[in-house]
Amino acid sequence: MTLPDIPFNRPYMATRALEFMADAAERGHLSGDGHYTRVGSETLRGLTGSGRVMLTTSCTHALEMCALLLDLDPGDEVIVPSFTFVSTANAFALHGGRPVFVDIDPSTWNIDVAEVERAISPRTRAIVVVHYGGVGCDMRRLRSLADQHGLVLIEDNAHGLGASIDGQPLGSLGDMATLSFHETKNIQCGEGGALLLNDERHVERAEIIREKGTDRSRFFRGQVDKYSWVSLGSSFLMSDLLAAFLCSQLEEFELIQAGRSRVWNAYRQGLAEWAVDAGFQLQRCPDGYRHPSHLFALLAPDLEVRTRFIVHMRTKGIAALFHYVPLHSSPQGRLFGAAELPVTDRVSERLVRLPLYSLLSESEVERVLEAALSFPR
Ligand SMILES: *Cc1c(COP(=O)(O)O)cnc(C)c1O
Repeated sequence: MTLPDIPFNRPYMATRALEFMADAAERGHLSGDGHYTRVGSETLRGLTGSGRVMLTTSCTHALEMCALLLDLDPGDEVIVPSFTFVSTANAFALHGGRPVFVDIDPSTWNIDVAEVERAISPRTRAIVVVHYGGVGCDMRRLRSLADQHGLVLIEDNAHGLGASIDGQPLGSLGDMATLSFHETKNIQCGEGGALLLNDERHVERAEIIREKGTDRSRFFRGQVDKYSWVSLGSSFLMSDLLAAFLCSQLEEFELIQAGRSRVWNAYRQGLAEWAVDAGFQLQRCPDGYRHPSHLFALLAPDLEVRTRFIVHMRTKGIAALFHYVPLHSSPQGRLFGAAELPVTDRVSERLVRLPLYSLLSESEVERVLEAALSFPR
């Protein structure tokens, strides 16, 4: 079959990307925590309302930092959705935790809070949630569950930069949160991420973990006269060259988000009625929840229809993709114990995403809509 001429994603290039990168190089500070890291972190602090922002090499690594901050003992449990990217669970498993997979809500496709409550055991240490498509999880109920059981609440906010619940930004609602700047996310630098800390108590240890287990940050601030190996850590700093690229996108944040939201709204408007007739379901975004147009997904009536839909779009030159092979039944996930998650199974075998990025032109959006509307039922 021919390659789709409307790809699923196109990386974004901000106007000043190369200018900022050249400037970073000229400043002679290519490693982490240079000028652009400071500017980028400050901007992200403003956007997320988070107490402290640390740029990292990826969202996966930011999640690993969360795992290290938890100081997990073997057998400690971390509640995670199965309907997510591998890193949400892998980061904690890699550092000694046992992921306990929990089902999702059939309308928001976010973690099911009643199921979270059922999964809490004396070994539970943390709840990790994913705001699917940047539609927030029910953070009020999750917060009260976490507080009631003394658990750390972590937001894998890879999708949700710029999203909010009743005006409160995602990323500011958990004890810790992470962001991704992978080239498939709204704001990109190729590979990159951030750790957001909303509990002051985690900041000092996070600095040490991020600096290979040393107190180098204290040294740079003149608080100690030499730095040494004080704890376990790794090399989690984003290079300032990439931070410069990131800053060029953050500078165009509103423009990028507006571009994505134009496409998202056109899909929504063009397909809402058709979806009802064709038996396709859209993601529910509760009142007061603002999403950042990270993805546009449809649930087909069943697996057979989804498979035909993807092939149909492909013949029209459009890449439409499925999302998330469930983790609980994956070869690695199964090693942590059997789980039956019927909603996750039913959603993951029916979900399909349409191309969505701010560079998608009006005529391309039209073509995607026409292709979907001409899907033979
Ligand atoms: C993209 C993504 C990640 C991983 O992000 P990286 O920056 O590539 O490590 C983690 N969780 C979710 C939900 C994601 O979508």
